[in-house]
Amino acid sequence: MHILDIFARDTTTFSFEFFPPKSDQAAAQLFDHIAQLEPLAPSFVSVTYGAGGSTRQRTHELVLRLKQQTTLDPVPHLTCVSHKRADIQDILTRYAAAQVGNILALGGDVSRDVAGYDRAHDDFKHAADLVRFIREFNRASLHPEPRGFGVGVAGFPEGHPATPNRLQEMDYLKAKVDAGADYICTQLFFDNHDFYDFRERCELAGIRVPIIAGIMPITSVSGMKRMAELALGAHYPARLLRAINRAGDDADAVRRVGIHWATEQCRDLLDNQIRGLHFYTLNNSYATLEIYRNLGVKNSAALR
Ligand SMILES: Cc1cc2nc3c(=O)[nH]c(=O)nc-3n(C[C@H](O)[C@H](O)[C@H](O)COP(=O)(O)OP(=O)(O)OC[C@H]3O[C@@H](n4cnc5c(N)ncnc54)[C@H](O)[C@@H]3O)c2cc1C
Repeated sequence: MHILDIFARDTTTFSFEFFPPKSDQAAAQLFDHIAQLEPLAPSFVSVTYGAGGSTRQRTHELVLRLKQQTTLDPVPHLTCVSHKRADIQDILTRYAAAQVGNILALGGDVSRDVAGYDRAHDDFKHAADLVRFIREFNRASLHPEPRGFGVGVAGFPEGHPATPNRLQEMDYLKAKVDAGADYICTQLFFDNHDFYDFRERCELAGIRVPIIAGIMPITSVSGMKRMAELALGAHYPARLLRAINRAGDDADAVRRVGIHWATEQCRDLLDNQIRGLHFYTLNNSYATLEIYRNLGVKNSAALR
């Protein structure tokens, strides 16, 4: 379904993010978790896109499988890195043929495995260029839906590390939205004040599209450290770290603290007219299921 219709239907959207599994065994496990999550009736789910090679094909396979074998509405991620226009045209054509409704258009990061990769080889430098290209694809009526693909883009409440000048960064975000984005999905954050301030700055900049908040429950100390490396610049509030330290080496207590924190974030965001909550599931259903349980509901409809 086109994202504009999803926003028209759901006053608050709920979405879950998955990454493509690397083996048949991992795929079987993922689909066990998806079976647990499906009754929560999310507005859509999204599938990340890797830095290169076979992982990219796996995104396509997972998107198609979700579309064919579940009731979920998959939104594939697509990145500029290591792509020519013809590759993107081919990918969009295949998604259009499969009636995929929406794409999350991203810059992407160069893979750490490809040392010294020169981005001058890429046809698109920034996500805004990819958004423009998808809009051209839409205008050429190459999608069965007359409006073509709905398009999402990424936003960074605490700033993106490559652009330390936060005023300039907001100009770039505005340009990305003006290029034709229908919504913004944010990077994870642990302090809702960062999100509210970002939302206000977007409003001041004249950005009017819905902004969906990215929620990432901490479920282990090692996972938290890995995430700090992937989401560079993310702010871990002292109150959160103190609570995690109190749990010490009790892994279950750390998990409960992390899920409690994420639940409180969601409760507060829901109380403050959030347009959508996007859960980074890391292909595991437990944390998301527990947050819904903590919020006292059986599915997304009860939260809207
Ligand atoms: C919700 C979400 C999902 C993600 N999913 C994936 C995924 O599936 N696969 C993946 O590889 N990565 C993913 N990422 C990571 C993302 O690709 C990287 O963080 C990337 O570095 C930034 O992506 P972007 O789309 O914001 O890029 P861009 O919008 O291109 O921005 C990248 C940097 O360039 C700056 N910039 C923008 N326009 C200009 C300009 N005209 N001139 C100079 N500088 C400019 C921006 O301020 C920013 O610092 C995701 C991130 C988020 C928040």
